[in-house]
Amino acid sequence: MKTYNYGKQHIDAADCRAVLETLKSPYLTCGPKVAEFEKALCRYTGAKYCVAVNSATSGLHIAMLAAGVGPGDEVITTPITFLSSANCARFVGADVKFADIIPQTANIDPAEIKKHLSAKTKALVPVHFAGQSCDMQAIKETVKKSKKKIYIIEDAAHAIGSEYKGSKVGSCKYSDMTVFSFHPVKTITTAEGGAVTTNSEQLYKKLLAYRSHGMHHTQDWEYKMLELGLNYRMTDIQAALGISQLKKLEKFKKRRRQIVDFYNKHLGLKHLQEQPFSNACFHLYPILVDNRREFFHKAKKAGLNLQVHYIPVHTQPYYRQFGYKKGDYPKAENYYAHCVSLPLYYDLTNADLKEIIRRIKSIL
Ligand SMILES: *Cc1c(COP(=O)(O)O)cnc(C)c1O
Repeated sequence: MKTYNYGKQHIDAADCRAVLETLKSPYLTCGPKVAEFEKALCRYTGAKYCVAVNSATSGLHIAMLAAGVGPGDEVITTPITFLSSANCARFVGADVKFADIIPQTANIDPAEIKKHLSAKTKALVPVHFAGQSCDMQAIKETVKKSKKKIYIIEDAAHAIGSEYKGSKVGSCKYSDMTVFSFHPVKTITTAEGGAVTTNSEQLYKKLLAYRSHGMHHTQDWEYKMLELGLNYRMTDIQAALGISQLKKLEKFKKRRRQIVDFYNKHLGLKHLQEQPFSNACFHLYPILVDNRREFFHKAKKAGLNLQVHYIPVHTQPYYRQFGYKKGDYPKAENYYAHCVSLPLYYDLTNADLKEIIRRIKSIL
């Protein structure tokens, strides 16, 4: 029996050639391919600057550092996300506040953000869940009334290729920085990898420095270390793969949207709703079922290796030490109780989709 995972990368001959060529080139790391990938991401998203890094987690970390987030500050994010969206605040010693979701999209609710804003709020990390953009204009309006600068850092790990009100996610039209992930389960991959886009030259220079030890080259062999930076550099081998993958993004997006339409039409199960402002490059297709654990086990037996996105972050033992408990974010917790993500990736054929739907209907 053919088995299906919830996600899978698509690597073609051009990807393989790009990697091999770079492997034989003089630069293996952080050379011309990284610069070319960054330029391609700028062209694609419309952002002025881009810094490629070795993961989205690293990207979120240096975004926090560049924004000057630190001890005593508060960062607001959603409970329905991968750990990094919250952990990045903890890396720099800031406190994490969560804001509940909108059930129809599972994205952070701007009205809930408002409830958690305080004099200590320094940054917001909206996450474009499943590839659908958050309502960025509403989020920006929410923080505009605040007296001090609140940085908006988009976690777009799911959302390369997506659009909000006609602008590409990553254009930073409504934010200070946007962070992408190129992990193999995401829409395009560099094996491990990520990138941060911004329109601010000042943030760009800080991101560059934090990516590489806080070093600023002056002349000849001389450099000055101004910040305590890290080594979060992407390799040229990875960037070569990224450049090649990015060329396929529109094709990936088209197929992913077709698959989502197909499931919406033929499954008849509860799913997320795309809002009029969104033109998503879908990363996940979660459905909501009544007996989720039983469904998950039966699906596994039927050759469907599904996944749950996500266990609400505030319920993790690490976050409970800060006083969070079950019941704090009822909409996120209710979503988690029912959600499970179906296979969604470029290689799925129409015959695969019919087979997946047949298996799902047989276990309901
Ligand atoms: C995958 C993911 C990350 C982390 O990405 P890495 O590149 O693996 O560090 C962060 N946030 C979200 C929402 C993700 O899905």
